[in-house]
Amino acid sequence: MKTLFSVSILVLASAATLAQQPEPFPVRGFCIAAPRPHQVEPFVKFINEELKPRSINTLILRVDFNFMFEKHPELRDSAALSKKDVAAITTASKAAGIAVIPQINLLGHQSWASTTHNLLRVYPQFDETPHVKMPEKYQWPNADGLYCKSYCPQHPEVHSIVFSLVDEICDAFGATAFHAGMDEVFYIGDDKCPRCAGKDKATLFANEVTTIRNHLATKNRKLWIWGDRLLDGNTTGLGMWEASTNATYPAVDMIPKDVMICDWHYERPDKTAVYFAMKGLQVVTCPWRNPPVAVAQSADMSSYRASATSVMKDRYQGMMQTVWSDVGSFLDGFYGRTADPKAGTNTPWDCFRAVFPAVR
Ligand SMILES: [Zn+2]
Repeated sequence: MKTLFSVSILVLASAATLAQQPEPFPVRGFCIAAPRPHQVEPFVKFINEELKPRSINTLILRVDFNFMFEKHPELRDSAALSKKDVAAITTASKAAGIAVIPQINLLGHQSWASTTHNLLRVYPQFDETPHVKMPEKYQWPNADGLYCKSYCPQHPEVHSIVFSLVDEICDAFGATAFHAGMDEVFYIGDDKCPRCAGKDKATLFANEVTTIRNHLATKNRKLWIWGDRLLDGNTTGLGMWEASTNATYPAVDMIPKDVMICDWHYERPDKTAVYFAMKGLQVVTCPWRNPPVAVAQSADMSSYRASATSVMKDRYQGMMQTVWSDVGSFLDGFYGRTADPKAGTNTPWDCFRAVFPAVR
């Protein structure tokens, strides 16, 4: 009797615990630069030993030109991933239940500081602002308002080239989704662009999102983008980086509803996921290196899902940790091989550790 009674109590207690556990988010994501060839092995180890036990199910890899593209070899980085390297990553990910989503920055982020990236270096005719010369020593702010270069979305030849890269990288990773970046696009609809001058910037942005989305849809692939250009930076006080002060934000009502929004906020747990969800868009909230903010964002995401209507609930897709360094620096920090005394515990790896038990 005593044993039976104990078992019953145990069963009841377990049921109560289970009832209290929030269901896992549909997306439990991690985003980092794709490893360089020499980093593939330690990165695969990290997938097996760290991503898998945390039930991460989505891995965004910022590939850009770090792949040995065959149709456009002129756009490869000098040290780029081979198909064999990619297979090592996808095999480990698949075994761990992780979907890999490759990213190539489209539209914006075609340069960084004083370096022009491969697309505009090889095809300078695609530059939205060819009159803006790259500085020898970059500083912000500057007279040109140069943060990063953009390609002109209305150049008649740009899409045949970038879509070739997109298709090749998605095929290599066996991906059912692609991340196009599209964050922090400051140069769009430039007054001096012969194709874009005078055009509505929100329409230009939305048209580019739609063009990319439609291309991916022909192969049953889904588009993911960062959300900042769709938020009104002035009215919200979110400013020009994590939101838009360059007139692109009305695009939120013009883009297809099946585009996944990655809503990044690194300083405060801004509740903008609700805004995207109410616009009919699916959204994941993205922290970076502030553990208390990330834990609050994760709790908010749980709360949105718990209190949403059945129509809205599935739009709250979950959390994705973003890491803005290369794989080597992140792994050095994560495994304690380097310390950052200035950052203290406000590091991407502390944030990763804090948010994923919370998500799990
Ligand atoms: Zn243009």
